[in-house]
Amino acid sequence: MGMTTIEWTSYRRPDGTVVPGYSFNPWRGCTKVSAGCRHCYAESLSGRNPAVLGVWGPRGSRPIAAESYWRQPLAWNAEAGRMGERRRVFCASLADVFEGPESMPVDAHDAVENARWRLYQLIVETPHLDWLLLTKRPQHILAMLPERWAQQEMPPNVWIGVSIEDQSTANARIPYLRQVPARVRFVSCEPLLGPVNLHEAGAIEDVGPTWADANSLIDWVIVGGESGSQARPMHPHWARSLRDQCVRANIPFFFKQWGSWAPDCLCATKRPCATMERPQPGGAGVMFHCGKKAAGRMLDSQLWDDLPL
Ligand code: SF4
Repeated sequence: MGMTTIEWTSYRRPDGTVVPGYSFNPWRGCTKVSAGCRHCYAESLSGRNPAVLGVWGPRGSRPIAAESYWRQPLAWNAEAGRMGERRRVFCASLADVFEGPESMPVDAHDAVENARWRLYQLIVETPHLDWLLLTKRPQHILAMLPERWAQQEMPPNVWIGVSIEDQSTANARIPYLRQVPARVRFVSCEPLLGPVNLHEAGAIEDVGPTWADANSLIDWVIVGGESGSQARPMHPHWARSLRDQCVRANIPFFFKQWGSWAPDCLCATKRPCATMERPQPGGAGVMFHCGKKAAGRMLDSQLWDDLPL
């Protein structure tokens, strides 16, 4: 753990070199909260070493990271400072940083609370790192942040995001995000499991017939399909619609991946892949189970790598 290949954490130097970002998990383990969690990658991974990676569920465990692990961001920060670069840290990829006591083992409450406060201290000590705190439980954000942060004095290197998968999770979670005074507020739509209207979810205001006065209330949108053997397909229309809404409202748009399912047969060999046809709601479409690598991350022949700053 440390460096990550997650595309939206990468730093691109002026010469085009791409430097991977980081992931940081103050603790590990979580409880599933919505349909997007069904094939939770972190839970699958945890089976390899539950003592370190946690056990899912309210009766599971939330092991706290080792001391040496807590020191790693200090080294990342020093390097970023030396290079005059900003680096992004995804927190947390193997937990939910705003998981509350209601879904957590009782004997983990205090340790997790302490780790969360230690994380805030670490964020302050690492000003060359941008910390991306991503959650499916935004209803807890303001209560769990330091009071001064929640009242407009958030350090500029804190980016807060919500993870949504369809219209109902967008409608439920984005309004909480809007209340958070972070310099960057972002929405990660991955795995995207249905169409999402950002205006209906409260992420864009004043959408008239022409969108000329559309007012964006979020700073970044990431879209991705699900990967893995059990992955559910993302209809191309859902991704295109989110891209088009972002373009019209001037919201930076990042297309992370198709996931295991692609809209066309995209295998490198160009041989027809073993297709698994699934009729999609929202329009015609046959999706191809090509695998994440072959499916790639081009949307309508274009890479969408926009960043908020
Ligand atoms: S919130 Fe994230 S870490 Fe927790 S179960 Fe869902 S997908 Fe997994």
